[in-house]
Amino acid sequence: MGRPFDKTQGRPFGFTLCATDGRARLGEFETPHGLVHTPAFMPVGTQGAVKATLHRDLVEIGAEIILGNTYHLFLRPGDELIARRGGLHRFIGWERPMLTDSGGFQVFSLAQRRTITEEGAEFQSHLDGSRHQLTPERAVDIQARLGSDIAMVLDECLAFPATHEDAAESMQRSVRWAARCRARLELLRGTPSPDVMVSNPGQAQFGIVQGGVFSDLRQESADATVAIGFEGYAIGGLSVGEPIDQMYQVVEETTARLPGALPRYLMGAGTPEDLVECVARGIDMFDCVLPTRNARNGQLFTSVGRLNIKNAKYAEDEGPVDPACRCYTCTHHSRAYLRHLYQAGEMTAGALNTLHNLTFYLDTMKRIREAIQLGTFERFRQEFLRSVRLKPDTTNGVSSLSLDS
Ligand SMILES: [Zn+2]
Repeated sequence: MGRPFDKTQGRPFGFTLCATDGRARLGEFETPHGLVHTPAFMPVGTQGAVKATLHRDLVEIGAEIILGNTYHLFLRPGDELIARRGGLHRFIGWERPMLTDSGGFQVFSLAQRRTITEEGAEFQSHLDGSRHQLTPERAVDIQARLGSDIAMVLDECLAFPATHEDAAESMQRSVRWAARCRARLELLRGTPSPDVMVSNPGQAQFGIVQGGVFSDLRQESADATVAIGFEGYAIGGLSVGEPIDQMYQVVEETTARLPGALPRYLMGAGTPEDLVECVARGIDMFDCVLPTRNARNGQLFTSVGRLNIKNAKYAEDEGPVDPACRCYTCTHHSRAYLRHLYQAGEMTAGALNTLHNLTFYLDTMKRIREAIQLGTFERFRQEFLRSVRLKPDTTNGVSSLSLDS
């Protein structure tokens, strides 16, 4: 179980479970930068900005926490520069909670010429080819300098599909790395290091459960990670190409082995349906690039399914993207205008589309929380799934959309 913070430093990270409805959980957690209501969706602010969006708008549409990518920030502008500028919150001007990943996922997916050993990962920057090493300890130090409210342990990201043997070996290495990450954080909490400027002494750290799609490995990973003891637990290595039912099954089995009193975070998922389906299986936190990336590609999520603004049938459509949405985009602009902006390559298209998609995601989380509070989550789930599967673009029998997560 997670240990309390040193009371002399920062504010404690506290998770409170407020209500449950089936396996869905309503909760809130306290961070040094304020409260987050769960289930929560975290917009992805890759390089210190959620693409095509102002922080002001994120606050207005109800984003309580955003995510920053350690790999990107480490390479540019650099974690030491950010620490000198007072930490990531101050540097980017975002006063609410933030979570940073460990950088591992991008090392595995973006970096060039990487070598993975027990010590850590060696890689070349995708920007300029410079060589770097990311060890578990280094991932902790970088995130300590960034000063996010929640830091993630470094884990090994397994390619899908993987054999049971490879998944087992990788999972066991991730557990050993998690223990090193925890030891490093406790060292930093106990004795300030002259080499590491800690920007946020109240930073929490989450462990990550791995193990591919294998139930026995997920169980072993969950038990071993919980035994190390973190302030919360994430499920990693999903939404990487496995069948959706398999993902839901892993989530269901894994949450059952995690401590009920601590938050659970499903990394990198997902679609609006995934949010609802995984809340139903006990997940409290999500992040995904889908609403922001798809917005920039002209794909919009609505209460009646997905809509592709590029579609010629919207050329003179006076209606809003989603009549049920109260975002700035939907209350001020027509589908016809948004289609025109997209076709013309105007940056405003990305901004307006992103604002709408994030509003849809954050409103969905709000509706989920309200339904859990009222004890009507199961009814909400059935109605939501039925309506978002309507797919307005498929009325002519042709789906013009594909998900690119
Ligand atoms: Zn809208």
